[in-house]
Amino acid sequence: MDESHTSIVDVFGSNVFNDVVMRERLPKTVYKAFKDCLDASRPLDADVANVIANAMKDWAIEKGATHYCHWFQPMTGSTAEKHDSFISPTAEGVTIMEFGGKELTQGEPDASSFPSGGLRVTFEARGYTAWDCTSPVFVKENGSNIALYIPSAFCSYTGDALDKKTPLLRSMDALNTQGIRVLRALGNTSSRHVIATLGPEQEYFLIDRSFYEKRFDLLLTGRTLFGAPSPRGQEMDDHYFGTLHERVASFMNEVNHELWKLGVSAKTQHNEVSPAQYEIAPVFATVNVGTDHNQLTMETLQKVALRHNFVCLLHEKPFAGVNGSGKHVNWSIATNDGINLLDPGNTPHDNMVFLVMLCAVIRAVDKYAKLLRASVANAGNEHRLGANEAPPAIVSIFLGDRLTDIIRQLDEGDAKSSKKGGELKLGISTLPPLPKDCTDRNRTSPFAFTGNKFEFRMVGSTQSTSGPCFVLNTIVAEILSEIADKLENAEDVNACTLKLLRKIVRDHKRIVFNGDNYSDEWLVEAEKRGLPNIGSTVESLCTIMDEKNVKVFEKHGVLSKTELHARQEVLLEAYSMMINVEAKTMLNMAKRQILPGSSRYSCRLGNAVSAVDAAGVNSNTQKNMLQKVCDLISELNKSIESLEEVVEKASGIGDVAEQAQFYRDGVFSAMETVRESADELEKIVDTDLWPLPSYAEMLFIK
Ligand code: ADP
Ligand code: MG
Repeated sequence: MDESHTSIVDVFGSNVFNDVVMRERLPKTVYKAFKDCLDASRPLDADVANVIANAMKDWAIEKGATHYCHWFQPMTGSTAEKHDSFISPTAEGVTIMEFGGKELTQGEPDASSFPSGGLRVTFEARGYTAWDCTSPVFVKENGSNIALYIPSAFCSYTGDALDKKTPLLRSMDALNTQGIRVLRALGNTSSRHVIATLGPEQEYFLIDRSFYEKRFDLLLTGRTLFGAPSPRGQEMDDHYFGTLHERVASFMNEVNHELWKLGVSAKTQHNEVSPAQYEIAPVFATVNVGTDHNQLTMETLQKVALRHNFVCLLHEKPFAGVNGSGKHVNWSIATNDGINLLDPGNTPHDNMVFLVMLCAVIRAVDKYAKLLRASVANAGNEHRLGANEAPPAIVSIFLGDRLTDIIRQLDEGDAKSSKKGGELKLGISTLPPLPKDCTDRNRTSPFAFTGNKFEFRMVGSTQSTSGPCFVLNTIVAEILSEIADKLENAEDVNACTLKLLRKIVRDHKRIVFNGDNYSDEWLVEAEKRGLPNIGSTVESLCTIMDEKNVKVFEKHGVLSKTELHARQEVLLEAYSMMINVEAKTMLNMAKRQILPGSSRYSCRLGNAVSAVDAAGVNSNTQKNMLQKVCDLISELNKSIESLEEVVEKASGIGDVAEQAQFYRDGVFSAMETVRESADELEKIVDTDLWPLPSYAEMLFIK
């Protein structure tokens, strides 16, 4: 592909049925009807849907599309699609191309094989997809297969959400309703909608495909289950923001072009902390579109990597001992007329709207800290959180100097001033002084205020952004509704607001922490403050059904108790399944690759001992080497047997939570023992007998 010299302006959005295309191709009345529906959050009339569908079909066919599909996001966290061609054969034996409003707005895939957490029994297979017209339809080229993609929500015959999009859309409604109430109470009469915005920074690894194909662990589980550390890791700090390797840069270039075509505004790219680790970030969008775009980004990274003979690893911890991958969820609240409600402006102390939104987030995050923690709980992220290279499992908020100062003033009475940023002098006569931010950054915080948005850093790199975002939207909507209840009945709105802010600050200042989140002192301090510290994924998932959570989701119509429970089941089951696959893969590799390879080496050493003895020379060194290898082989063999036992036992446990807990306590710890002796063997076995590519090769060879 050589698109490197095509103008980005021409490429961007060229495969999206966006506003420009709609204005061009739809009759004015239909275009207006569509816009009105979006604005009023109403469903489309059948007539309007028919005209739109027809225009979409013509547009897609001109782009070479033969098929269309409802593209949805089941609870697996990835996306799903079932393609139908546009053809409709006629009696004369020819075909016309058909696609109507009904096909556009609704689909009916067989839902039986998607996880439902008990929401649907297998024989009730019916599931429905519904077009989410707030996320634009696009054409995707997959090799020579070109299809029209319709972003959709997915629910069961009974209307229960079976996907990640439905609760996200519902949470956006909730935030809108409560946000507008607060804005009106504070005197804003012009904004019509409040929306949540999302800009997710996606971290990933790239390794050469030839290494990947030699490792069943990467192939089947996404992470290395074995691997002695590379003699060189990330300690030189020379990879972060380093010069892009040419092969990687070409890959990134192609990823960007693919994404731009799909209207994904890929913007920032750089080397990350670990060797072979990178990041891509878009310009932010609404949480809904941003989530769809992040799914496309993950898919495109993987697809394009193969074209360059790389494999893209999205796992949270592909390699032990070096940095893992997260997905920083940058999140804010804005209005349809372009006001960022988390923008402090120059004088935040007298920016009432900002202070209310800020305090709403502070109260929400403290009150629902366990729920936020659970929104990032999966098997992969367990290797990251609290492992001294990612935020700890303790949720806290970084506000920085300026906002902390305002919070302090509120605590003591009224906020009367805002710290200024000033200038940064570089001591170089030819360079002008740089305007200095009022606040430094804090890379260790799990939930950091970064100028005009929050950055939720605990999210795992494989995760859909839907979960963390719908939790954030819902809990902030809840606090905004409490605030609106008070303000709408207040005689003096200003006095009432101030009172409310002060109370929030007093009640929740414990959640604010600007120090080093990696330090041991913080663990002690956080415990003193009563902040939860839930390191285990299973334990965290078990908090999902706390009454407070059920209530907040039900009150705002985001998830019913049954739907929430289903999600808990799906997540716990996913955890158990993942560990089970990892354990079985480990056993397979240990028994069929590592033990045989090591035995062959022991044979070689045995032969060496005989040969050296025969030559009449002292063979003690060879004997010692042989002894060491044999000891490790027998250790490994023992740990394999123990792992087999616990895997067997785990499969017999009926209760979902109990089973997941056993996978953590029994199976996962047994896996660590297997790895220990295998990694020790890797350090001494002859490289040409070792069956797996090493960490050094995978991380450093491009
Ligand atoms: P960092 O310095 O934190 O690594 P990046 O430039 O890599 O920052 O990414 C910052 C991300 O934050 C981008 O995706 C950007 O679009 C997003 N962002 C900026 N403003 C907002 C906002 N108001 N709402 C949501 N996301 C935002
Ligand atoms: Mg970044």
